[in-house]
Amino acid sequence: MPATDCFIKTTCPRDCYDACGMSVRVRDGVIQNVMGDRGHHVAQGKLCGKCAIAYNGVFRDAEKRLSVPLRRVGKKGDGQFEPVSWDEALADIAARLKKISDPSTIYHTHYTGTLSMIAGGFPGRFFNRIGATEVDPDTVCNKAGHVVLADMFGTSLSGFDPEQIANTRCLMVWGANPSHSAPHMHSGWVKSTGAALVVVDPIATGTARLADIHLQLRPGSDAALAFGMLHVIKQAGLFDRAFIEKHVLGFDGVEAEIDAATLERTAALTGVDAALIEKAALAFARGPSLLWLGQGVQRQPKGGNVFRALPLLNIATGQLGKPGAGFCYMNGTETRGVDAGFIAGSAAASVSHMDLAAHLNDPKKVRALFTWNNNIVASSPSTKAIRKGLAREDLFTVVADLFMTDTAVYADYVLPAASFLEFDDLIFPYFHDTVSAQVKAAEPLGQSLPNQEIFRRLAAAMGFDEPALFESDGSMIARLLEQTSFEGTFDNLKEVGTARLFPEPRVQFEGLTFATPSGRIEVRSNRLAEQGHPAVPMAHADEAPEEGRLRLLTPAGEWLMNSSYGNDTKIAAQLGPAKVHLNARDVARRKLAQGDIVRLSTKAGHIDLAVNISADVPEGVALSHKSRWPSLTKGESNINILNPGLRTDIADSTAVHGLEVELLKL
Ligand code: SF4
Repeated sequence: MPATDCFIKTTCPRDCYDACGMSVRVRDGVIQNVMGDRGHHVAQGKLCGKCAIAYNGVFRDAEKRLSVPLRRVGKKGDGQFEPVSWDEALADIAARLKKISDPSTIYHTHYTGTLSMIAGGFPGRFFNRIGATEVDPDTVCNKAGHVVLADMFGTSLSGFDPEQIANTRCLMVWGANPSHSAPHMHSGWVKSTGAALVVVDPIATGTARLADIHLQLRPGSDAALAFGMLHVIKQAGLFDRAFIEKHVLGFDGVEAEIDAATLERTAALTGVDAALIEKAALAFARGPSLLWLGQGVQRQPKGGNVFRALPLLNIATGQLGKPGAGFCYMNGTETRGVDAGFIAGSAAASVSHMDLAAHLNDPKKVRALFTWNNNIVASSPSTKAIRKGLAREDLFTVVADLFMTDTAVYADYVLPAASFLEFDDLIFPYFHDTVSAQVKAAEPLGQSLPNQEIFRRLAAAMGFDEPALFESDGSMIARLLEQTSFEGTFDNLKEVGTARLFPEPRVQFEGLTFATPSGRIEVRSNRLAEQGHPAVPMAHADEAPEEGRLRLLTPAGEWLMNSSYGNDTKIAAQLGPAKVHLNARDVARRKLAQGDIVRLSTKAGHIDLAVNISADVPEGVALSHKSRWPSLTKGESNINILNPGLRTDIADSTAVHGLEVELLKL
């Protein structure tokens, strides 16, 4: 009998704004092809290039996937392992954890390897039960932005609904690059908007090339630019004084700084043409306007201040609480009325990723390390020190992953995790106000298990008996789903793939109530002032790099999803050799040529890269995309080797875009 194909709707759970609906063709229980879902409002039948390759490549490659638990037999980091049964592995892991008298010396690191709700959250329950220390995931990405927006507005997780684009007249994208990080939003939502498009970015990204106005500012001058725009708007009499009076606390604290931020001064600090600043400021002020706050823009030494300054544009002009207006950092489950806190619970203690390398080298601080959903050797700063810490023979290390990553080779036990194509879960996209089903399309490869099942089994091996540690996926999915307006079960959601949850586009901060102590937007923050920060945002611009140095920017590229996909052969072919992109004038000044190998150095380390001359990069900037797998890259390192763990002014978050590098021709 000829086999019949069936098509399963599921959802891409990557760290991406798009959250594409997918269609998986399955024959006799075997996945044949993974495609975009034609009926999905974002994907419209197409996956991005990287996922189209990886989901039909390395994600289903039995040679590359981990399929059995592994136990180390060689020296730490040698990558020599032997297969072992799940029971044996989990019994030994449990026994070794129980021997650790201070549970706070058990660290666990995780991030966005998958954003599905259960696989991305439930393991936290286990670690919270044992009292482990969480390496705060957002500190390697976007914590500064979260902290200051929550301080100012009461939440950082309730942004504009993208559907409001139909009602807006100005879309300002500040420090985000949808052409790489939200490819469908770039080619659809951004490209087709009839609104004026303003892009603020030091790099002429694909999205910047679509803009009506591109403000190509000097890195580190974002706050100064925002204040300069506020100056223009105030001079034009476009401040919404009634809004400020009624809904804002402490706006008077920034008025003098706005008055001082003249166009001439702002142009000098930012390197942006004064006429363009004026044009963009007035377009935004007239509104209705949406401000997309990228995550990259707060990864700088004054990232907290920057993120306090940018929303002043919305605040001063009353671009909040009405159709077509607002800002968005990201949308959490709260925009859909869902409290997902029960999945993981709260960590007993946490530390910053910026401190991880130092702590890993201190046996008193860390005796055991679990990493799941991330690959710290590729994604964390201070790579050399991370490797040194991981090489400690006395550090008991367990890694759960799909692949033998640069981090997994240091583990005592490597536990094979199932891919998102192999179990049911739920996804709440962080841009769209929808809910999506992640649907099992095939059995887990080999003996691999979903993250949540790994930690249920480990809880049993530890002898725990609290029911919460064994809650089923079905129960958690139902508890999440019943908080939404979706009328149906998970089975109903599986049929449609993605469900919209609002009949009309949601208005951000509708009713203009804010979950701050005063109930108003708090521009002046006594809380931050008590911690030693300025009480109000400042018109700061970083100094230019020291003579001869370049400011290094390391955003996401087109072909990697954080550090995922770096081990896919076709992706590697797309990536080619690791490069640094430089402006032609910097290349000429240094007597370099296309393809020359140069050494970038900081006090943390160095890396050798091929020069690519690029008109997209301004003078004084070196651009090199992040997240290659060190072990698969010449020199066994990626761009993180240069980062000593530079941190933001607020929240101990990464300030990786503040690095200055020396560049030498080899
Ligand atoms: S990574 Fe983003 S663009 Fe690519 S398939 Fe997944 S959701 Fe879509």
